[in-house]
Amino acid sequence: MPEQTDVLVVGAGPTGLAVAAELALAGVGAIVIDALPERSGQSKALALQPRSAELLDSRGWLEPLRPHIHARLAEGHFAGLPLDYSVLETRFPHQIAVEQARIEEVLEARAGRVRWAHACTAVRQSADEVAVAVETPAGPAEIAARFAVAADGAHSTVRRALGVPFPGRAARMRLAVADVTLARKPTGLAEAWAPPEFGSGGFGYLLPLGAGVYRVLFGGEEQQAKERTEPVTAAEVQRGLEAVHGDGVEVAAVRWGSRFSDASRQVERYRHGRVLFAGDAAHIHLPAGGQGLNLGLQDAFNLGWKLAAVARGDAEESLLDTYHDERHPVASRVLVNTRAQGVLTIPDPDLLALREVFGDLLAGPAANRRLAGEVSGIDIRNGIAAAPPRSSTGLRLPDTALDCARPSLLAARPVLIGPPHLEAIARPWRDRLDTAAGNAGMLVRPDGYLAWTDPDGEQGLARALGRWLGAPLQHDANTGTERTRDHA
Ligand SMILES: Cc1cc2nc3c(=O)[nH]c(=O)nc-3n(C[C@H](O)[C@H](O)[C@H](O)COP(=O)(O)OP(=O)(O)OC[C@H]3O[C@@H](n4cnc5c(N)ncnc54)[C@H](O)[C@@H]3O)c2cc1C
Repeated sequence: MPEQTDVLVVGAGPTGLAVAAELALAGVGAIVIDALPERSGQSKALALQPRSAELLDSRGWLEPLRPHIHARLAEGHFAGLPLDYSVLETRFPHQIAVEQARIEEVLEARAGRVRWAHACTAVRQSADEVAVAVETPAGPAEIAARFAVAADGAHSTVRRALGVPFPGRAARMRLAVADVTLARKPTGLAEAWAPPEFGSGGFGYLLPLGAGVYRVLFGGEEQQAKERTEPVTAAEVQRGLEAVHGDGVEVAAVRWGSRFSDASRQVERYRHGRVLFAGDAAHIHLPAGGQGLNLGLQDAFNLGWKLAAVARGDAEESLLDTYHDERHPVASRVLVNTRAQGVLTIPDPDLLALREVFGDLLAGPAANRRLAGEVSGIDIRNGIAAAPPRSSTGLRLPDTALDCARPSLLAARPVLIGPPHLEAIARPWRDRLDTAAGNAGMLVRPDGYLAWTDPDGEQGLARALGRWLGAPLQHDANTGTERTRDHA
């Protein structure tokens, strides 16, 4: 007999761990598996964008990261061209420089036990369940779940097993990343976290991680011919750095290295029956501007509470379709902006001219605000089609209303803020909804996005509650109790 669970999360990277942490907070049982023997401790990503910082903070999960923060960078960047984040209306108008491994540790502590060395090898699903074959240290096993989250990264086994297409553009540019120690540093190397520097031969990103370790990103002709799994050697890094910094640099040792590309792909549907795709399993792109981990985290915050509501029986399964509707366009947009950033980095005799013109344009406030809002994740708006004028439905909760919502968001519960008479409308959802006094009416989802605001009209409130929280409680005259439709 296969082991049973409500949700199986495949992949314990930042995306899978964040979904599992959200499910744990909502009291929904989940099993998390990962093919690796243990956490790698390696960090591809090195920064949190403002919206991700807000989300982690809303759960109290930013606080444990504080001792590990290297810097708060007032600038984001677009292909290395600075974006001024001080114009963003957020309590975190900066990138938070912190390693992916530290973020994963914090999430794992909240996600429950991860089953390492458990590799998903096959997936089949029926109308009622999804069955996942798992290779474990004790031999083959099967786990049956009501839902599975495919968070198994760019080369997703779940995606392949289900035959889900991954359309997009193949790699044109192959790059390498390595954490190295240096025997000799290039003159004038800034010992601070900063966006990459460019020369006409492309870029050779050299960033101090502390304790004498430097992050190097590079990509020249040599890297184009390498297989993805080929180790990154010290000699290769040396040549990569010399191409940009000249011979004034000497690599001592490579601590860790990996290869990546500018392939740009996205699954067409994030939901395939009982399987939900999230993070790199759903979308890949050049890691430009520091957006991939952030996209995955935000997928997880969008999906987690919806999956919990469906698994608990509070909401209909169709709520899961809104995960696709809301998150697919956000990643599509990131694929566009990272492809544009790719063009701003590909070695070309006219690269510096292109960057100069683009940099001048970005110095203008409108262009800066537009791209800063996009790369930071602050300007995301869900489902705006139906929102009336002056409505802020679909936007994130403004910081000005945060105090009213904070206790609910810490517990990942929705909250209705507003004058007392709104409570009467919301009473049939009181088993799942918090209320808080405030002047402006707003219904805040557990992921901090607004599901209803005053300008939508009070008649729209019950509709929004039904749409996002599921069927209202109904009085059962026989037993004198109240039940939701799904529990009846
Ligand atoms: C050089 C580089 C720099 C980057 N810098 C940034 C940055 O600054 N900011 C940013 O936001 N993003 C950045 N990214 C992107 C970011 O690292 C990824 O988007 C992020 O790791 C995606 O997280 P994930 O959890 O979706 O997938 P992953 O981190 O890939 O995790 C997937 C997990 O699934 C597991 N797995 C795989 N197959 C199976 C299987 N069959 N069964 C079970 N488990 C399996 C893997 O072992 C892994 O632990 C960068 C990427 C690169 C390459």
